[in-house]
Amino acid sequence: MQIGKLPRVRLAALPTPLEEMGNLSKKLGGPRLFIKRDDNTGLAFGGNKARKLEFLMGDALNQGADTIITAGGIQSNHARMTAAAANKLGFKTVLVLSGERPSSYKANLLLDHLLQAEIRFLNAKDSEQIKQRMEEIASELSLKGHNTYIIPTGGSNRIGVSGYALAMTELLAQANEKGIKFDSIALACGGGGTQAGVVVGTKALNLSMRVIGISVSREAMLLKERVAGLARETAEHLGLSIPFSPAEIEVYDKYVGEGYAIPTTEGIEAIKLVARLEGILLDPVYTGKAMAGLIGLIRTGRFRSDENVVFLHTGGIPAIFTDESIWF
Ligand SMILES: *Cc1c(COP(=O)(O)O)cnc(C)c1O
Repeated sequence: MQIGKLPRVRLAALPTPLEEMGNLSKKLGGPRLFIKRDDNTGLAFGGNKARKLEFLMGDALNQGADTIITAGGIQSNHARMTAAAANKLGFKTVLVLSGERPSSYKANLLLDHLLQAEIRFLNAKDSEQIKQRMEEIASELSLKGHNTYIIPTGGSNRIGVSGYALAMTELLAQANEKGIKFDSIALACGGGGTQAGVVVGTKALNLSMRVIGISVSREAMLLKERVAGLARETAEHLGLSIPFSPAEIEVYDKYVGEGYAIPTTEGIEAIKLVARLEGILLDPVYTGKAMAGLIGLIRTGRFRSDENVVFLHTGGIPAIFTDESIWF
């Protein structure tokens, strides 16, 4: 991988811990379960966006930017972490958040405010409209003499995704140190960037590790195409000639429930189980549903009991505080 040559700025607390979840494994009757704590990356409560931002912000610095523009939902983890990273690097941040300005600021939105990002609410119909709005803001700011850098929603382009290809070298080193080999890795799949990076890293390192994505919003068919497409672009960006096809990408969409950010009963149960048995907190939007997916796959016999499975904790902790009523 030519990853060492790409612009990168150190923002995340790496390596993140790799821990065994012995109590959960025992409760479920195997497989042997581990958790990669990317919720511990730092940047105002941590999460998977930190690894993407190291490369995105590296590129922004390289291009002489002074203002970062990005987008997300009202409760976007990506927006919150981008604002934190931008502050650390001395950039101004403009966040385009989809939806109406809520009457009270909670969780990630409260943190965006505390981090003093400029927030623009947009009642967007689709991703095209969001992109267009970011471009309009960029032209508006460049007229005022600013040098802007636009980060796509979720930080999921070839630059950001590279961060998760690199994360696999970190995971491999930790697995080697513990004398284990991972048979599978399970993770939440939102826009698909994280899974794409994991897939690229896994193939580039010749690991025989199954990469299992649990969708938190979209249909599996659509995500398989997206992940394969992003993986292709990222591999090319890293100077690797590895093919990827949607058919080889594993994504389950049975654990979405009613839709993005709408909590599911299984997700809440999974969060409570992991909290009680391991003292580890998951979030209701991404990692809770992903854990429900992993538990569901374990219960339906999709793993041998002697397999080693690692769950990638992608963060999202502030969402715990969005609506306390879901926990009672
Ligand atoms: C953004 C996010 C994801 C999804 O990442 P993608 O790369 O968009 O698939 C998963 N978990 C958390 C907590 C996130 O904030």
